[in-house]
Amino acid sequence: MIQIQLTLAEQAFRLMLAEQKIVQIFQSDQAISFDNPRTHYVEFELEGNRVGIDTSEVHEQMLLLYINDHLVQKLAIPEVQKAKPKQGLLGLFALGFKVFKSAKVVKAALAGASVAGYAWLFTFEFALMLIACLVIHEYGHVRAMKYFGIKTKGIYLIPFVGGLAVSDEKITTRWQDVVISLMGPAFGLITSVLGVVLYYATEMEIFAGVAVLSALLNLFNLLPILPLDGGHVLKSISFSMRSWVGLSICILGVLFGLWISYTFGLMLLVFFLFIGALEIVFEWRGRHFSHLVPLDKYGQGFSAVMYALVVAGHVAVMMHFADSENPILSLPMKILSS
Ligand SMILES: [Zn+2]
Repeated sequence: MIQIQLTLAEQAFRLMLAEQKIVQIFQSDQAISFDNPRTHYVEFELEGNRVGIDTSEVHEQMLLLYINDHLVQKLAIPEVQKAKPKQGLLGLFALGFKVFKSAKVVKAALAGASVAGYAWLFTFEFALMLIACLVIHEYGHVRAMKYFGIKTKGIYLIPFVGGLAVSDEKITTRWQDVVISLMGPAFGLITSVLGVVLYYATEMEIFAGVAVLSALLNLFNLLPILPLDGGHVLKSISFSMRSWVGLSICILGVLFGLWISYTFGLMLLVFFLFIGALEIVFEWRGRHFSHLVPLDKYGQGFSAVMYALVVAGHVAVMMHFADSENPILSLPMKILSS
């Protein structure tokens, strides 16, 4: 992927090229739509004129610029500069994560350790419930990755931290990030609702417990804080608008996270916030090289509505048991309202 800066009618344009194909055009950092009437040729409107760009001579370092079908200029493309791999501390983290990802055997051991860990911390019954909720949630992410044709390594369970669905390949659009992130809590909604249904069908309290636990777990993941699922939705929407909007909103997310950690005494969240801060740094540093196709206005709105619906679903399940006489079931609501 190479990018080319252009100035047309005193406005800054940026073309993202993969081989001879233009994959994205930015007009002052905002992605614009364009037509592709024939191979190696794209067109877009600019102040009532049709601007055409011919990429058939890219291999000769040339780009042909047309205005209203007239060739106006041959632009020389400067030598392609390959982005250097990131070094230093951040590179070390990336390497560590790669090693972790390649260790397939780790998975089964982690799952066992998770059950044992939670069983030791709570009860065996509770441990199984928690693992079931985590696995179904992560399975949602895996399903979404498979839907987009992204290879997956599967689900990892990390004792006392939670679960992780790991992909083998990078995503190419922000829309994929939104769908993959939301499918976890959306699948989690199945667990929450199923818990409610089974509770009324069998009157066994454990199913109500599953419903409340699942709702709480998924709502935590939906917090608009990176690297949680909600944070990814927020990042994809905000970075699709403008890079600085994305940066500001994601930093607000970190501050919100710090406030929650402090208010509820959640040390685990502080650990997440640290990883989230790194993710924001990566995103900001790569803002001019991002190959991710941004969301258009419609996509941004649609993503926000989907997010709100999934949140509402889990909140509804939790509210349902809020007035329950069983202290365990109404506990989450008491925590939140205190
Ligand atoms: Zn998730």
